[in-house]
Amino acid sequence: MSDKKTQYITSEQMLVQREYTEKIRLRNELDARETGKKKRCYVRTFGCQQNEADSERLAGMASEMGYEITDSEQDADLILINTCAVREHAEERALSITGQFKHLKEKNPSLLIGICGCMVSQETRKERIKHSYPYVSFLFGTSMLYRFPEILYRCIQEQKRQFYLDAGDVGNIAEGMPVRRASDRQAWVSVMYGCNNFCTYCIVPYVRGRERSRHPSCILEECRQLIEQGYREITLLGQNVNSYGKDLSDDIRMDFPDLLAQICSLPGDFKVHFMTSHPKDASKKLINVMAENEKAAKHFHLPLQSGSDRVLSAMNRRYTIADYLEILRYMREKMPDITVTSDIIVGFPTETEAEFEDTLTAVAAAQYDQIFTFLYSPRTGTPAAVMEGQIPEKIKQSRMQRLLDLQNSILADRNRACIGRTYRILVEGRSRGDDAMYAGRTEGGKLVHFPVSEDEDLTGRIALVRITDAAIYHLSGERVSDTDVDEG
Ligand code: SF4
Repeated sequence: MSDKKTQYITSEQMLVQREYTEKIRLRNELDARETGKKKRCYVRTFGCQQNEADSERLAGMASEMGYEITDSEQDADLILINTCAVREHAEERALSITGQFKHLKEKNPSLLIGICGCMVSQETRKERIKHSYPYVSFLFGTSMLYRFPEILYRCIQEQKRQFYLDAGDVGNIAEGMPVRRASDRQAWVSVMYGCNNFCTYCIVPYVRGRERSRHPSCILEECRQLIEQGYREITLLGQNVNSYGKDLSDDIRMDFPDLLAQICSLPGDFKVHFMTSHPKDASKKLINVMAENEKAAKHFHLPLQSGSDRVLSAMNRRYTIADYLEILRYMREKMPDITVTSDIIVGFPTETEAEFEDTLTAVAAAQYDQIFTFLYSPRTGTPAAVMEGQIPEKIKQSRMQRLLDLQNSILADRNRACIGRTYRILVEGRSRGDDAMYAGRTEGGKLVHFPVSEDEDLTGRIALVRITDAAIYHLSGERVSDTDVDEG
């Protein structure tokens, strides 16, 4: 990994990519005229929201190159697999899916299969794919994304497999890539890339490089355009958004709370979410900005990871449980109805039974609205992978079940407390399980079902819904109008 400073990809470098885009577009246009069929591109995404945002850029670039984006790999001429390295399971699935595409290549030898993302930003994975997956046509690491048109063009023109790691490119920021968003209501906006924290279990700093912040004016302009296009929810993305701005030069320096306040001051009817916040950097200033700005969604994702100070220290998290609970206390003092969610790792190396019980105690104290739980999975190249005291799978599984049981009982109580309250719901569409019901989400992300009215389609709109019933994973309600709305 490189230690060098943020490099902004110049407009000349982006122009080179546009030239490659145009060359491929012309080829595809010619081909479509001969065959009467447009070439198609299928993008498969693994992992986090940052990967989803990257896939929207891959799809945007492919569209500009003349590909039609398809939901089916069966009829694709170009397949892109955007991989994740955070857990072993995600890597295994990506490799297994890649293996399943072999028969498509046998049926259609001109099919191009490309792999990108965090998994292939590791040298060992790159070598494995090169030698064991000969039908993979090209590969590139996370910060080579903007060079996708060039890599694809070389692959087609030279009739040769192309393998590019991030060497020399980790630490860059490219602006102006085309984007084809998956939703016309909700948009991801990356504010920064990479991470400097080196939590001992995490591969991210090794595959996504060091923290680098986008220019504030580029972020504000992207948000302004999205709001003008009618987007109702903007989620600001970064591995640790609270570090935003630390690497910016003095003349443009801005911290994350100020950035959030500026976005909230843009005109329009929208809400701003963000993720993820490292508890060591979650400041009172940020909480105050959220409390003071109606457009800041009242949802805070604050990863706890463990309830034991010793385990947190072994994870290199640099906060204590007391620090963490104090942030929560202040947050709820300022925003009593805020939705709080968290991540928890079960079975970190050396975690004792008593330390796991400390996690249960912390979860009971925190009263989360949702938790994302992970069995610890060793990642080659991280310090925790070689720690002594790895916890047997059976113990991890049983601890996980106890944690889930506790959280379900907390959630049942918290959801029951929503009955009788009215929420502002962004309607996603018909419920998958019941066509007579809409499914939508509160500002804090709680799933709400309410009956469809035949006279108007509410998809993509805001509805006021009074909650009448609560289950563990969703709330049910009825639409109301002209009423006070409760936050959350
Ligand atoms: S803060 Fe820790 S867990 Fe999050 S991306 Fe950085 S190293 Fe990984």
